[in-house]
Amino acid sequence: MLDKLQQIIGKGKIRQNVSLGVYSTFKLGGKAEYLVQAETEEDIINAVQAAHTFKLNITILGGISNVIIGEGGIKGIVIRNLTSDKKVIQDEKDFVLLEVSSGYYITRLAKETAEMGYEGIEFHYGLPGTIGGAVYMNSKWSGHQPTKYVGDVVHTAKTIDREGKQNIRDKAYLKFAYDYSFIQETKEIILNVTLKLKKNVPKQLTERCMQAMDYRRRTQPYGVATSGCFFKNVNGQSVGKMIDDLGLKGYSIGGAEISTIHANFIVNKQNATPEDVRKLVDYIKKKIKKAYNVDIEEEVIFL
Ligand SMILES: Cc1cc2nc3c(=O)[nH]c(=O)nc-3n(C[C@H](O)[C@H](O)[C@H](O)COP(=O)(O)OP(=O)(O)OC[C@H]3O[C@@H](n4cnc5c(N)ncnc54)[C@H](O)[C@@H]3O)c2cc1C
Repeated sequence: MLDKLQQIIGKGKIRQNVSLGVYSTFKLGGKAEYLVQAETEEDIINAVQAAHTFKLNITILGGISNVIIGEGGIKGIVIRNLTSDKKVIQDEKDFVLLEVSSGYYITRLAKETAEMGYEGIEFHYGLPGTIGGAVYMNSKWSGHQPTKYVGDVVHTAKTIDREGKQNIRDKAYLKFAYDYSFIQETKEIILNVTLKLKKNVPKQLTERCMQAMDYRRRTQPYGVATSGCFFKNVNGQSVGKMIDDLGLKGYSIGGAEISTIHANFIVNKQNATPEDVRKLVDYIKKKIKKAYNVDIEEEVIFL
């Protein structure tokens, strides 16, 4: 099968049985049956075509900062999205339309757009992962009131479906909401994203980048293996505060620990396994249900 896949995808671009943990921010997880390191949009399109031709499952991953890959790994083709093009496609007096590859790292994008005087992404400076993952998740920055969502500045997204059909999806189609975009249901793969960014003074925007980073460093565990906030807030209430109020900071199962700095973060303290994380998550859910009678839901995706 590898030979056949290589014919479509390219010889140096696909490998078999590749550990994914090393690429994930949580530093854990199993192997990809086949891993494609996609550096261009064409690499993604070829991988989709190959998966369709040979009826293989296909999964796209960006920064692997919001997923836990199980020990059994991921069957079929996994695309690790390393695409990184960016160009202004429309330049008006007050705004630009900026087309960005879905694999573009969002922190790099925040810095570059701020320096160019394009407003809208700067609050996401310090957010791990790619713009594709951030659109899929509608990632947010709640260090600012009102909360800033990545979806706020999305104009369109170019997608490809599992059969290889490409579409331009507008904002209405994407139905952004808290931790949600419609892509979670359609399972389309985002090839690129066009952002509508207002023009502003670069200094003001770069200062916002620094404020966001400073806030992250003060309030979140930094430089550790984690997937960020693990649970979605419920009815506008902070799940981190609920966990903290139960005195669970520092509680651990196996190598997985509830951060001592931010109770909604689970950290890979010592060679945690996906199973350790699963058990800790179930434990937290039970405790929250018992104490507050609410069901909490994971923001992080178990694959
Ligand atoms: C330290 C830390 C801090 C964090 N802070 C925040 C925060 O402030 N706010 C916040 O909202 N999140 C935060 N996160 C979570 C995470 O960084 C974001 O959700 C991020 O946007 C995910 O992007 P990614 O590229 O890593 O996606 P991945 O984790 O690789 O993938 C997430 C999901 O998106 C899908 N996906 C990825 N790329 C594409 C694509 N091109 N097309 C279609 N689907 C795709 C994947 O299949 C998967 O289902 C944090 C995480 C960490 C580790």
